[in-house]
Parts: sequence; C-alpha cells; structure tokens
Amino acid sequence: MVIHHPKTPLEAVMLKKEKEDALYLAGGTEDLRLNGPMGENTELIDINGLVPSTIEKGEDGKLKIGALVTLQELVESDLVPEYLKSACRFCASFEKRNAATIGGNVGARRDDSYLIAALAAAGVSFMSITPHGEELKKVSEYANSDCKRLIEYFIIDPATKGYVHRFGITANTHAAVIAAKVGDSYALSVKGSALVCGDTPDIYKKVEYKDTLEGSAEYKKYLASTVFTLKEAK
Ligand SMILES: Cc1cc2nc3c(=O)[nH]c(=O)nc-3n(C[C@H](O)[C@H](O)[C@H](O)COP(=O)(O)OP(=O)(O)OC[C@H]3O[C@@H](n4cnc5c(N)ncnc54)[C@H](O)[C@@H]3O)c2cc1C
Repeated sequence: MVIHHPKTPLEAVMLKKEKEDALYLAGGTEDLRLNGPMGENTELIDINGLVPSTIEKGEDGKLKIGALVTLQELVESDLVPEYLKSACRFCASFEKRNAATIGGNVGARRDDSYLIAALAAAGVSFMSITPHGEELKKVSEYANSDCKRLIEYFIIDPATKGYVHRFGITANTHAAVIAAKVGDSYALSVKGSALVCGDTPDIYKKVEYKDTLEGSAEYKKYLASTVFTLKEAK
C-alpha cells in the first residue's frame, strides 16, 4: 500500500488531482474498512496534521470545526449544537466515533452519511483548499459532486436548533433514510439516491427512490414522506 505524507494542504490537493484513484486519509475508518473504497492500486494521502483538529468559537459567535475533529469530540463538546451531536451518535460504536472525523464523514459522501443531512439542512459551509486557493463550499452542493478539494474546517452557527432521524434495521446496519430539519430547512439522505434539500417537508417528492438491501423504493418513500409531518404533529 502506498501512503503519501505531503507537507502542505496544497501538496495534498495536487496529489489527489494527479492520482485519479487516490483517497485522503483522515481517521481511516472508511478508507481502511473491510470491502471499503480501496482498490488494488489506490494510494492514500495522509492529511493528519495538515488541517485543523480543534473546535473554536470566533468573535462572530460561529464555530470553526476542524475537519480532523472526531465524532466523539463533537459529542463531548459543550459548544456543538444538539442536532449535530445526535447525528454523530448514529455512529453507534465508540471506537469508530473516536477515530472517524467530521471531514472524513462528509468527504466520503456516502448516501447513508451520519452527518451530511444534518449539516446540509443547517446550511453549513466549509472552507476548503483547491488547486486555485481557499474556497467556501456548501455541504449540500459538495455532497452530490465528485470534486477533489480538501476540507479544512466547517463553519457552524451554534444557536441553530433542529432534529435528525435515522431509519435502519439496527444501529449497526446501513440507514435506509436519514431526515434532518434544522431551522426552517429540510434534508433527506436516502440509501441509493442523491441528497435532497429544501424549505418544505415535501422535499421527499424530489428523491429518485431505488430498491436496495436496506429497503424497497416504496418503503423508503413512505418513511421520507411521513417523517417530518409526524414529528411536527407531535
Ligand atoms: C463497519 C462500518 C460501518 C460504517 N457505517 C457507516 C454509515 O452507516 N454511515 C457513514 O456515514 N459512515 C459509515 N462508515 C464509514 C466511516 O466510519 C465514517 O464515514 C467516517 O466518518 C469516516 O471518517 P474518517 O475520518 O475515518 O475518514 P477516512 O476513512 O479517513 O476517509 C473517508 C473519505 O473521506 C475523504 N476525506 C477524509 N478527510 C477529508 C477532508 N478533510 N477533505 C476531503 N475529503 C476527505 C477521503 O478521501 C475518503 O474518501 C462505516 C465504517 C465501518 C468500519
């Protein structure tokens, strides 16, 4: 296995651009898992030490959460809003939460991502390094793209309130649907489909449902069509 140890974030991004198949290595829980994304020739680009690993509150009251902050550090922080902590708890194993990073979870762009629906509903953006310099990007736009930028830190309003629901057969099987409402915005991660976001609960109509091992298209559509209205009827 080839692991590169670039000296700067820009060097990491240029390596990723140059090597079509390469992956950034943060916590490694996705990259190195059994039947994970690594092919026979995949090279790893170690980003540990290159992007922030701290949670800081700026003068504007916003949180700057480093891409290398782990899901467990988010759960334990007094600064992080509750909706994001509850999304981190979808990762049921303490051991995995302790290694998996927020940048790695978003960077993996999984359709059952623990965090993407929550961050997208919250309208969260992150600062990233691209070959052309630093650039802000919305999580909701990034999730459905395949761009190779390196996530540096997320900018999060700690005052925002919301909720996140996950539907899966068990805590350790892949989710069929993850639904988030934060502030006045909604987002749905549906297994087998692209992320959808919007300002009304009927965003479920925008999803292209597919039959997967986690459930039939009909089943997932039923969950997505009822989750927000049932929650708000309480
Ligand atoms: C048994 C098992 C079950 C799992 N189930 C789920 C699940 O249901 N839902 C889920 O979301 N995850 C799941 N995962 C995957 C994983 O644990 C998480 O997605 C985790 O948050 C990835 O974080 P990491 O730091 O370990 O990322 P890594 O494994 O280091 O990297 C993952 C990906 O993110 C990219 N990346 C990493 N850091 C950055 C960055 N700063 N900027 C841009 N790209 C970056 C890498 O290129 C790579 O493609 C599972 C893992 C295991 C082992």
